[in-house]
Amino acid sequence: MQTILEIDNVKKKYGKTQVLNSISLKVEEGEIISVLGPSGCGKSTLLRIIAGILPLDGGSVRIRGQEVSGPHHNLPAEKRGINMVFQDFALWPHMKVEDNITYGLKIQKVDREETKRRVDEIVSLLHLDGLLNRYPAELSGGQQQRVAIARALVTKPSIVLLDEPLCNLDVQLRIEMRTEMSYLFHKLKTTVFHVTHDPSEAFAMADRIIIMNGGKIDQADDPRTCYLKPGTALVAGLLGAGNDLQKTQIVETEKDSCRVRIGGETVEGMYFPGEDHSGTGSSPRNAQVRFRPEDGHWLGGRAQGNCFQARSVLSTFEGGCYRVKMQTEDGQEFCILHQEPIPEEENGYVQVGKEQLYVYESPVH
Ligand code: ADP
Repeated sequence: MQTILEIDNVKKKYGKTQVLNSISLKVEEGEIISVLGPSGCGKSTLLRIIAGILPLDGGSVRIRGQEVSGPHHNLPAEKRGINMVFQDFALWPHMKVEDNITYGLKIQKVDREETKRRVDEIVSLLHLDGLLNRYPAELSGGQQQRVAIARALVTKPSIVLLDEPLCNLDVQLRIEMRTEMSYLFHKLKTTVFHVTHDPSEAFAMADRIIIMNGGKIDQADDPRTCYLKPGTALVAGLLGAGNDLQKTQIVETEKDSCRVRIGGETVEGMYFPGEDHSGTGSSPRNAQVRFRPEDGHWLGGRAQGNCFQARSVLSTFEGGCYRVKMQTEDGQEFCILHQEPIPEEENGYVQVGKEQLYVYESPVH
């Protein structure tokens, strides 16, 4: 497979603040990449550098082997063979849908016959039949989104950049559109660089998810691996493991597994040593333990395999099940899901499978 986009050691500062810190990444032809991360982690900055809208301070960006961004070089956006779909779609309001779609082909001087062939194809793929004579203001949000995608794809760019493309659509439409976009991009073998803060959008669309944190990459893996083996506590939190038991004591570690003390019991989890862990020294080693509410199972008074003691605090109905706030004996709070409410102040055991309990060793200070 050919590498289409190569980001090498890219750095960017705003004033004195380092916003991108040595980002390196390769994107193969036809691959759909989703860059996911909390607000402010540098996703849009990276996207804008690739688009050629923003210069970088260090490193380089290559498209099909050609350097387009370097410390002393910034190829203009329109010469990069890249198209972008913006959050607000950015359709030209004074042009009809057909003119919006064909504008790029006119600039490229594509002949009339080929233009008709490409427009027919994209209109049919995106179900835009019957809308070509309308102005953008006469379209629903979902239709505007489709036109923006049609406009981005019709010139067959090397890469399509998507900047939070679904954030202006309502929830139901968002779910429909992400499935449809994933189908379309895979069918057309489009190389896509997609930026989002919504994990479900990344899961639905990506072949590979790049998780950014504070201007660097925390994890770059296929969606299943990111979900099942979140490499850092931040990734775990971002991907649903909201329960966060800080300062948990480590009893013993092996290669990938680890035993920790929670709620008066020793339980086993998946071990992530991190970059700056304390190793096997004699001082007590602490960890941050994360797990998803849906992976915590209430056993009541019967202890049974990989469980720890806790006390229920509050049950709230979530539709389908209850979210139960709980507390360990040393006062750490977490939530589990349960079919029934659990009476307040009830003591019992919570079981979490060892593959679902993520243990991140705390760095030594
Ligand atoms: P994200 O897209 O992940 O939310 P951004 O790339 O937009 O993050 O921003 C990264 C960081 O850079 C943030 O802390 C943001 O406040 C800061 N930032 C973005 N644009 C500018 C700018 N033009 N001047 C100064 N700081 C900026």
